[in-house]
Amino acid sequence: MELLSLLNNNLSFKNRTDWDKTLLLLEETFKSPETLKLKGIALSLVEAVRLMDGFIQENTAVVCPECVKVCCKNKHSYYDHEDLIFIYSLGKKAPRYEPEIDDDDACRFIAANGCTLERALRPFRCNWYFCGPLIKHMEEGPQKAYRRFIAIFHDTIDLRRRLLGDFFALIK
Ligand code: SF4
Ligand code: SF4
Repeated sequence: MELLSLLNNNLSFKNRTDWDKTLLLLEETFKSPETLKLKGIALSLVEAVRLMDGFIQENTAVVCPECVKVCCKNKHSYYDHEDLIFIYSLGKKAPRYEPEIDDDDACRFIAANGCTLERALRPFRCNWYFCGPLIKHMEEGPQKAYRRFIAIFHDTIDLRRRLLGDFFALIK
């Protein structure tokens, strides 16, 4: 199937032809009632990420203002092919990216108070990346909150794996 061959690590909005074709095929695929099960998994994933939000926010609020090498570069702002599957499972669409911002410039979604995207809808790499100082701060904070965060974090990984596995099983 054409969609299967397009969904790989090379997919980028910078190749407009493949990108637009992929979005079109995803839109068609997600019209099928068979994909409703995927929506359920994606919604559970959103809920799980929301449960982590407060804990992450409390920690980034302390650590990030001191940062001299902010990680939010524009190259991280784009959905990859797996993010697209998640976003379309939710019935949402990818933003219309424009190439006017360099990869190493500040991310197009960053503002004075941090990322403007809801955490659950950020590219997944943004939700699993934690720099050394941030991890240290989390680990040295209240243990109960940290353990809860780790458990939910693992849930998000499992849900995402399930979502992608079920999606690829459906379209192959
Ligand atoms: S997560 Fe780490 S690298 Fe990124 S802005 Fe915060 S302190 Fe800096
Ligand atoms: S967390 Fe938000 S601001 Fe930072 S790289 Fe990701 S999308 Fe951009």
